[in-house]
Amino acid sequence: MSIPQKTDLRNFSKAQLAAYLVSLDLPPGRAPHLFSWLQKPGIKEFSQMATINRAMRQRLAKQAFISRLSAVTTEYSTDGTIKYGFALQDGEIIESVLIPTPKRHTLCISSQAGCAMGCKFCLTGAMGFKRNLTPAEIIGQVLAVIEKMIENGVRRATPREFINNLVFMGMGEPLANYDNLKIALNILMDRHGLEFTERRITVSTCGIVPKIKTMATDIRVNLAVSLHAADNDTRSSLMPINMIYNLDDLLAVCRAYPLKPRKVILFAYILIRGINDSDRDARTLAHNLCRIPCRINLLPYNESVELPYKRPEAERINSFQKILRDAGFRTMVRDSRGADIAAACGQLAKCGNKKTTHQR
Ligand code: SF4
Repeated sequence: MSIPQKTDLRNFSKAQLAAYLVSLDLPPGRAPHLFSWLQKPGIKEFSQMATINRAMRQRLAKQAFISRLSAVTTEYSTDGTIKYGFALQDGEIIESVLIPTPKRHTLCISSQAGCAMGCKFCLTGAMGFKRNLTPAEIIGQVLAVIEKMIENGVRRATPREFINNLVFMGMGEPLANYDNLKIALNILMDRHGLEFTERRITVSTCGIVPKIKTMATDIRVNLAVSLHAADNDTRSSLMPINMIYNLDDLLAVCRAYPLKPRKVILFAYILIRGINDSDRDARTLAHNLCRIPCRINLLPYNESVELPYKRPEAERINSFQKILRDAGFRTMVRDSRGADIAAACGQLAKCGNKKTTHQR
């Protein structure tokens, strides 16, 4: 006889939780209260939910559980960046990177174990696709990192103040796990939960055009797009997704993306020596991005021994940036944090396997 599986309540949005309570003959009106307990860092058992009555706690404990991630590895960079490795129930390992600055903490989280997109400069692609993360596994990274911050002596008045910005730039392509991403965002933005506002969350994509269109109508968060090349030939050679949705399709959907006043799309462009870093590339990029309200982040390539790609010289990077700035684009050169612990952009690695890296 098969043993019935318990239900992970951290997979539920508030509305889903209410429906689940109905299925257990419990009052759905208790959903907001229960939901707020579930979104508190450090909650792992129903017995901790002091304001939920005992009978309800006991009923829930029979049918359901509260999943929780705990770090199996923690690496500290000399620049303050911290990389956490989390083992999932089935043994897959994912990583999250906490990037502190004097004023704010940014957390970079994973949306998949592995990735199917196969970008050539990214060794996460070489690792292949393992599986999508559940909403609970996505949110679990945020809760677990807040718990670690509390352990490390960080103090804030409320849980929502621990992490200022949340970026989906870790392992995986978030829009390839759209359904779970959407539930996770709903949970993260809920006023009874961690209450992230839309301006504090950025979802980054390599360019899954139909899902960008869907997201435009579904969820209001910041959009980041990994471009990494100014023309179709170069982009297809670096990013196989470009053979399905090419630059023209991608830029058209970006141009039509509904942005609130003063909001922009963030374009990420990894600069790789001799591949996409010429003045001509910069001019083509400027031409392509005209009429798209945007900011451009230039990311000098983080070299790894496993891949042949090289970082351009500083002079080349400056020249590329100058062309974009002269064309009127807000352009930053972002030197990644945490390179010494393989936590920088392009270095997110499955724990203990430095062969696996990720570039956004
Ligand atoms: S860069 Fe991002 S989308 Fe491309 S293979 Fe790596 S993880 Fe996947």
